[in-house]
Amino acid sequence: MNLPGLVDFHCHSTASDGSLAPAQLVEAAAAQGIGLMALTDHDTVAGLAPARAKAQELGIGWIDGIELSAKFAGGHLHILGYGFDPTHPGLLAGLSAFRQARKNRLTKILDKLSHCGLPLEEADLDLSEGTSPGRPHIAAAMVAKEYVKDQNQAFDEYLGHQGKAYADKEIFGPQETIALIKNAGGLAVVAHPISLYLKRSELADYLEYLKGLGLDGIEAYNSSHQNDQCNRLVKIAAQLDLLVTGGSDFHGTAKPLVQLGRLKKGRKILSKWISPQFFDTLGIETT
Ligand code: AMP
Ligand code: ZN
Ligand code: FE
Ligand code: FE
Repeated sequence: MNLPGLVDFHCHSTASDGSLAPAQLVEAAAAQGIGLMALTDHDTVAGLAPARAKAQELGIGWIDGIELSAKFAGGHLHILGYGFDPTHPGLLAGLSAFRQARKNRLTKILDKLSHCGLPLEEADLDLSEGTSPGRPHIAAAMVAKEYVKDQNQAFDEYLGHQGKAYADKEIFGPQETIALIKNAGGLAVVAHPISLYLKRSELADYLEYLKGLGLDGIEAYNSSHQNDQCNRLVKIAAQLDLLVTGGSDFHGTAKPLVQLGRLKKGRKILSKWISPQFFDTLGIETT
C-alpha cells in the first residue's frame, strides 16, 4: 500500500474501556483521514475481528494490536503487541488469566468501595458482553450514582494507586508479558514510557533491560507525552536500536481531550515518524 500520512497505532474500543464499538472506532478513524491503524484494547483481542472487517470494508490499512499491563513498581508498564496471531493458544491462555485477574480485582474494588459507604454492584457497570472490565467503568458508575463529581475525583480519591479502594490486577512481570506477544509472533513495544515515572538517568537503562527481554520498540509518540519527551524517546530508541512507533491512546468520551490520530495540542501522528522496519516486519509494503 501507499503509506498514508496520518496513522494511529494505539486506541481502545468498547472491548476494553473505550466508548466506541470496534467497527464504529474504525469508521471514526477513517472520517479523521487515518489510513493505517491498530486497535490495542487492554488485555483482550475481542474487538479485533469486527474492527478488522470494517477496516477491510473501508479500505483502511489494518494491524492487529493489544495493550497488556505488566507488574512494575512505582509506575505503569504497558506493553503493546502488534501483528501477532490472535488465535495463538499460549496468548489466549495468558489472556484468560488476565480476564480472571480483572474479575477478581473488580470484586476487591467493589468490596472496598462498599466499606467506604459507596455501594456498587457489577450490574451498575456498563459492561457489554465480553468487555475487559477496567477502573474507568467503575469511575463512570460512581459518577452516575453521584458518589463523585467526575471520573477524575473517582481516580484521585478511590481508584488511583493512592486511592482508598485501589487494588492491583497485574499478574505477569515484563519478561512473561513480552514473551506472550513474541511467542504469538508479534512485535512488542513499550507504551507511553513516560508513565514508568523513571528519572531521566534511569529510563534508557530500563528500556535497555526490556530490550534484553525481547522488546522491539518504543512508543515515542503518545498523546500523554510533551513534545520534548517524544524527542527524547526518539533519541533513546536510536541509541538502543529500538523501533519508534506512535499512537493517540484514544478512548472516546472516557478521555475527551484525546483525538484519533493526534498527540497533544492536535499534532498529527505522521507515518514518516514511525520506523520503516515496523511496517516491513508487519508485512506492510511502503512503496
Ligand atoms: P485499568 O485498566 O483498570 O487499570 O484502568 C486503566 C485506565 O484507567 C487507563 O487506560 C486510563 O484511561 C484510565 N485512567 C487512569 N488514571 C485515570 C485518571 N486519573 N482519570 C481518568 N482515567 C484514568
Ligand atoms: Zn484504557
Ligand atoms: Fe496504557
Ligand atoms: Fe492505552
